[in-house]
Amino acid sequence: MRNINLRVRDDGTIALSAPPHTPLSYIETIVRERSDWIAAARQRVATQESRHAKTCENGAIVWVWGLPYRCQLEPAAGTRRTCTFEMAEGTLVCHVPEGRLGTDEQAAARRTSDLSAWLRAKLAERVEQLRPSCEQAVQARCAGTRIRQMSGRWGSCNTATHMVTLNLNLVHHEPECLEYVLCHELCHLHEPSHNKRFHALMDQCYPNWRSVRNLLNSRC
Ligand SMILES: [Zn+2]
Repeated sequence: MRNINLRVRDDGTIALSAPPHTPLSYIETIVRERSDWIAAARQRVATQESRHAKTCENGAIVWVWGLPYRCQLEPAAGTRRTCTFEMAEGTLVCHVPEGRLGTDEQAAARRTSDLSAWLRAKLAERVEQLRPSCEQAVQARCAGTRIRQMSGRWGSCNTATHMVTLNLNLVHHEPECLEYVLCHELCHLHEPSHNKRFHALMDQCYPNWRSVRNLLNSRC
């Protein structure tokens, strides 16, 4: 049993490795016994993928601050060459200039790139709003913030330059997730490791951090 390794890949397929000559019937039993776990893991992968999707197509879902919006593409009036976006009760109205309206791959890629830029600006705006109160709570100031599409982590803090980097995907989750990550990275200016002292700092500046962390971890 110890040498059988079962995992769900990012694309939802399942990988199982077993020692040579393991009877197929035994492997089948393992898969059957773990079917609930497999279903839950595949569900998590699917939810995560859709939550972080940045596809600008009619009907596609884009998550902004923890809420789903359905894309509605409309031809844009005026001379702007890039897409503009407008949120209205569950709908993300995408004003698309002529050059980007096509169904071809290139037009789709340009819309996606415009959507990413818009999401980045939304996140940057919120970061600047939250930063003073977070810095006040943590009693530390960073040199600046930047946003990157990261994988496997929500943010990072360079303790030499005092720069905080935030994952663009934070824009898809509830605003408290961003606040928590920002406080977490600022706390690294006092304490680089995730040790007892670090957790005590987090307790002070963001008492609810455990539940927000669990929420974010359930989505990655
Ligand atoms: Zn950390």
